[in-house]
Amino acid sequence: MLKIQIPETWASEREYIVSVLFEEFLGLEISVTKGKIDHTLCQCEGSNCTLKIKDDFFSMKPSEWQTEKTLANPPFSKFNVKKWPFLCTSSELPVLFGLPDIDIHEENLCIHVDIFGACFYMLSRYEESVLHERDPHGRFSSKTARTPYDRPLVNEYTELLWSCLSFLWPFLSRKQKTFRLMPSHDVDFLLRYPHWTSIGYELAKDMIRQKWGLAFHLAFKGIQSRLGDIEKDPYNTFDWLMSESEKKNLVSTFYFITHKPAGKKDCSYEFKSPFIRKLLKNIHERGHLIGLHGSYLSSEKRGLLSQEFSLLKQVCEEEKINQVSFENRQHFLKVTPETWLELNELNLSHDSSLGFAECAGFRSGTCYEYPIYDLVNQKKLTLKQRPLVVMDCSLQEKKYMNLSPEKALTHIQSLKKTCALFKGDFTLLWHNHRLMNPEYQQLYLKAIDHP
Ligand SMILES: [Zn+2]
Repeated sequence: MLKIQIPETWASEREYIVSVLFEEFLGLEISVTKGKIDHTLCQCEGSNCTLKIKDDFFSMKPSEWQTEKTLANPPFSKFNVKKWPFLCTSSELPVLFGLPDIDIHEENLCIHVDIFGACFYMLSRYEESVLHERDPHGRFSSKTARTPYDRPLVNEYTELLWSCLSFLWPFLSRKQKTFRLMPSHDVDFLLRYPHWTSIGYELAKDMIRQKWGLAFHLAFKGIQSRLGDIEKDPYNTFDWLMSESEKKNLVSTFYFITHKPAGKKDCSYEFKSPFIRKLLKNIHERGHLIGLHGSYLSSEKRGLLSQEFSLLKQVCEEEKINQVSFENRQHFLKVTPETWLELNELNLSHDSSLGFAECAGFRSGTCYEYPIYDLVNQKKLTLKQRPLVVMDCSLQEKKYMNLSPEKALTHIQSLKKTCALFKGDFTLLWHNHRLMNPEYQQLYLKAIDHP
């Protein structure tokens, strides 16, 4: 049992982050007390050694909470990993708060890197609550972010903490995590050819954007689909996605929009339709998961998520689908702290919206799921965040990363390896309607290969 003493200030925030790092991530048993100290102190039963973790971020005054003054400011000093080795993606670790030093005095170790401050800052998305700039969809953008998101900093900080703990107390053992590949699919479109007229309309667009061979091939599929062979519709990839997941022993999660307050901006289907009902039953019977896809306006208007989730549960009940818990991902990844509060009240288990639309990576600095911290009411929620690492359109779209399939694959493999290194979750979002091009099908299959 580790005894941890924290300063009396910012107690709720400190208790939260200590619990996430020690209990959730490392799986260590701890007892936490508060004291009149200016650092965090760790001790272990039956040992005289001590570990001090210096304070920086939480040395702020209450009046400074959520002000610009408290933000991490690049360029950051760097901790030299060669001098004190631990599992890290680079030879240098950016120090958001504190100093890049570590001291050893006989049986006592003192880290000047503010591990708890930095991890709290990243996981709670503190900077997003202070920097109010948003993109045209109301999303926080990676261009506004001040902290690195190309690496899982929180995982690296956790490894630094673990290296200190195991140096002082080599008999400690941490929880063994396992790498998980987690494919998911936001269902924004159901069919590409819902009407005969859509064949001509899509063909005209395809002749501009695609190779002509593919354009006519797709139009032919449209005709087959309209004549009754709906399996041929290029967006109807649900069975294919499930089969490919099953071949690799993976479970796919399909997120559905149940209500359309923003009309076409939300989705092109009616959730209560016979097609969806059959699809939901199929997903459930094959052991995959159904989730809620919070509508475009649901992050702005309170009450919408409640209606949307009720509809999801109602249809599942009518179809005798007994799924124990449900997860959510916001359409367009439009998520706010209020969204999390509402999802928490509705008892959804996870939200998986924390990724940047314009680029892949680690928006909250981790590839582990974690309980969300409510910065408004200053408390830990039951709702967990399952950070989104890669979204198909972030890689492909011209306005985003604009990568060729080869470059997109290299990027996917690199992020997947990083998640595997920390035995974390590689969460991948691939839309069912983004598999028309055989090149993208191949890319998806490689993306769900084990690293
Ligand atoms: Zn969507």
